[in-house]
Amino acid sequence: MVARLSLPWRWFFSLAAALAVLLFVVRLSLNWALPPFLIAQIRDGLQREAFAARFFLRQELTQPQPDTARLQTLAWELGRNTGVRVTFIAGDGAVLAESEKTFEGMKAMENHLGRPEVQDALRNGVGSSMRHSDTTDVDHLYFAATVPSSTAPSNVVAFVRVALPLHQVSQTVSHVQHVATVATVTVGAMAVPLLFWLARRTSKPILEMRDVAARVARGDFSHRAPANTDNELGELAGALNDMSAQLDARLRELNAEKAELTAVLSSMTEGVLAMDAAGKIRLANEALRQQLDIGEEAIGKSALEVFRNVALQEIVAEAVQTGRVADRDLTFLSPVERMFEVNAARLQSRGGAPAGIVVLFHDITRLKRLENVRKEFVANVSHELRTPLSIIKGYVETLLDPQPPEPEMTRQFLQTVQRHSQRLETLIGDLLTVSALESQQARLQLEPVSLRTVAETAAEEMARQAREKNMTITVGIPAEFPRPRADAQRLHQVFFNLLDNAVKYVQAGGQISISARLADGEIEVQVSDNGPGIAAEHLSRIFERFYRVDKARSREVGGTGLGLSIVKHIVQAHGGRVWAESELGKGSRFYFTLPQA
Ligand code: ADP
Repeated sequence: MVARLSLPWRWFFSLAAALAVLLFVVRLSLNWALPPFLIAQIRDGLQREAFAARFFLRQELTQPQPDTARLQTLAWELGRNTGVRVTFIAGDGAVLAESEKTFEGMKAMENHLGRPEVQDALRNGVGSSMRHSDTTDVDHLYFAATVPSSTAPSNVVAFVRVALPLHQVSQTVSHVQHVATVATVTVGAMAVPLLFWLARRTSKPILEMRDVAARVARGDFSHRAPANTDNELGELAGALNDMSAQLDARLRELNAEKAELTAVLSSMTEGVLAMDAAGKIRLANEALRQQLDIGEEAIGKSALEVFRNVALQEIVAEAVQTGRVADRDLTFLSPVERMFEVNAARLQSRGGAPAGIVVLFHDITRLKRLENVRKEFVANVSHELRTPLSIIKGYVETLLDPQPPEPEMTRQFLQTVQRHSQRLETLIGDLLTVSALESQQARLQLEPVSLRTVAETAAEEMARQAREKNMTITVGIPAEFPRPRADAQRLHQVFFNLLDNAVKYVQAGGQISISARLADGEIEVQVSDNGPGIAAEHLSRIFERFYRVDKARSREVGGTGLGLSIVKHIVQAHGGRVWAESELGKGSRFYFTLPQA
């Protein structure tokens, strides 16, 4: 493979070749034009000399007795003075005199009438010929002129012929060629550095522009092409610089827009998935990656491959087909069960061609869960309210019967109605408490509270019921125990609900005690009893709303199923924890903690 020449070298060789061709043509022209030019000049000279000789010959011939010896002397004379060979020829072709021969030699010369230049002169008055001379053995140029008769000018009485050897011509030509060679070599030697400089100078801006263009292609816009010349190259460099500057500005804009978009996408809590027109994933934002546990390997794959969710594929297909936003709630089972409201929209390029699909994932897991909890709660509340109400309604209807029951029965019925009304009242009271705790109104009034005082107040309120069941309530909290910052009224409710449960569920004669201790920087309060205890499978659930171990027993003792959930709510609002420990038949221990002030 031939190595590619760089631009300066190519230009250098092109210019050098052009110069070589030029010099060659000049040389060729010299070779071609110089000999005819020189010969024409020699012929002109010969003509002048022939005419001068003719003048003398004419004078000789006008003598009454032309003397051959005098003619020969004239020929010698003329030949010596002009440096040309002079021949006088008679009208019949006989040689009369010859400058380069002796008298005898001349006499021996053959008839010259047949010589081309003589024949030519015979026809035209003058004639010339170029040929090899046998007499002198070199190439000669001959020139002949007629000598007309002085009495009858149309009669030719003699010819004057002059000749010059042509080695002068070839000498001049080779001399000129030599000079031309020297000149060519000199010009060539001088031209090489000049051409090299010219080639470099001309190609330099182009090479610089090439470098700038290559840098621009690589995204480096820091260099500028030299646009300081006033010609087309300067304009090209200027245009290249403008283009580079515009590209730079455009790229910066695009990058800024991309950075903004990336920032927006990654700060979004909604998951965003973008796919190209072929359905391959191009982008999945941070939220989506976390929610659905997908990584970088998802890029370039189809949604079905990555999510393995046919319903998602259907939404995407719907958006593509209809061109409208497709909307559906979807459940994803992995990595954990989550529900999303998914919106898919088709993207269009400026020309209207489909450019891709964007899918938005709005996590509604919590919302759905809350909705379920709310539904369950409403169902539970309705159920709890309906039971006492239908009992009350039944008894009232019986009492309103046209034949009322016996007064003793009536009294018993009214007592039942009263008990259930009481239950309804308690239930509504608890519901109001739950509602207040959940709403924003339940702001805690935090102040240092004496646990002992609050516990004793609650115990006193329960004293009558405890006495009725022959139970004892002991408050074992020392007066100097550290006071937590708490809402006294809410804390009272906690103690009251725990004591109320203990009095309700512990058999007659049981013992209830309240104690407190400091543990790991927290205050831990314990309410324990020696009642029936709670089975392990129920322990974790008794703090849920409306959860009861034994529904019938709870109702019988006037429970609502809300007591412990209220306790949990209040304790958690204070930043504490609540739990229970128990074993069937071995009593129960309820614990809650409060942060130490
Ligand atoms: P309820 O109004 O039914 O008492 P709670 O939320 O206060 O509702 O209590 C939930 C359940 O926990 C009760 O139904 C009961 O079965 C059980 N429980 C609560 N406290 C005690 C206790 N001290 N001893 C035994 N069981 C208890």
